Amino acid sequence: MKALAPYAVSAENSRGRSHPEDAPFGRTEFQRDRDRIIHSTAFRRLEYKTQVFVNHEGDLFRTRLTHSIEVAQIARSIARRLQLNEDLVEAISLAHDLGHTPFGHAGQDALNECMKAHGGFEHNLQSLRVVDMLEERYANFDGLNLCFETREGILKHCSLPHAAELGEVAARFLNNTRPSLEAQIANLADEIAYINHDVDDGLRSGLITLEQISTVGIFPAFLESVRQEHPGIPERRLIHETVRRMINAMVSDLIRQTEDNLTRHGVRSLDDVRAGPPLVAFSEEMRGENRALKSFLYTQLYRHYRVMRMSAKAHRIISDLFAAFMDDNRLLPPQYQLAEHNRARAIADYIAGMTDRYAIREHRLIFSVGENFS
Ligand code: MG
Repeated sequence: MKALAPYAVSAENSRGRSHPEDAPFGRTEFQRDRDRIIHSTAFRRLEYKTQVFVNHEGDLFRTRLTHSIEVAQIARSIARRLQLNEDLVEAISLAHDLGHTPFGHAGQDALNECMKAHGGFEHNLQSLRVVDMLEERYANFDGLNLCFETREGILKHCSLPHAAELGEVAARFLNNTRPSLEAQIANLADEIAYINHDVDDGLRSGLITLEQISTVGIFPAFLESVRQEHPGIPERRLIHETVRRMINAMVSDLIRQTEDNLTRHGVRSLDDVRAGPPLVAFSEEMRGENRALKSFLYTQLYRHYRVMRMSAKAHRIISDLFAAFMDDNRLLPPQYQLAEHNRARAIADYIAGMTDRYAIREHRLIFSVGENFS
């Protein structure tokens, strides 16, 4: 590994772990964080959670697990080139969606509505809750006891009232400072990953067509160049080659603009990073192109009637489960039957932890009269 840039996060400038531990043997502190994330229960559940398409709709669509792995790949490429901490961006990327409910954004919106009177539900906050409190794997502490920089990277967004409650890890939302460059990279790698894989999955599913997308963002330029260089190329290969070039263009643009920003702002240390403006960024031009692609995906894919049907069903499943558990605590597994004052939060933790198919099964077990009396 190349030497880290002076403004990278390292074991030396890290704010460390909440519960002090001996230095790891044979791996870095942030590799240890990554390893703990990979061994967590919440990580394994990502395999059966919806990204856009429900997990059982097809074997080739992205799930939250493959999405997270793609984010980590993109983030590592960027970090390596900028001489930043690859292990840290990998840990943040793999953990960034751990708090997601089943059924993607529809599930999160439904749970947030259910929790309105009880402090709300935010998936970023939930990801932090998973690694800080909910994982039960270690004898000496709850959660995974990750380094401060991994935790602050996982907490991508956070409302101000919640930030005030969370303390140091959320201080930047209150005092207008920035997280590490590694956290900023993981955040934009997420955007690169989902724009590109949603285009790919959208085309594969037939919910969007090549014709529809052939005027949007940077897609048409690459589509044309592939067609010209490879006349008669089969469509699946054409799409892959186009998407591959798009990812490459976005990554290169981000690296160039970020290098530029680092020079322009004279960044020399991690403190400079925290005090400065957001430094990891696309060029103005690429930002515009991405905006076009995102709004296309929003209207044509995420709002497609077939996706909306899934979302409506997801909404019903989550709200029904929440109402049933609030109504009768005894329907919950014993470890979630907590005291009255935090019952809603315990139920939200239970529901958020479910995979798509587990939530569907729970719903059937509780609401379907005449079957599965177990
Ligand atoms: Mg994501």
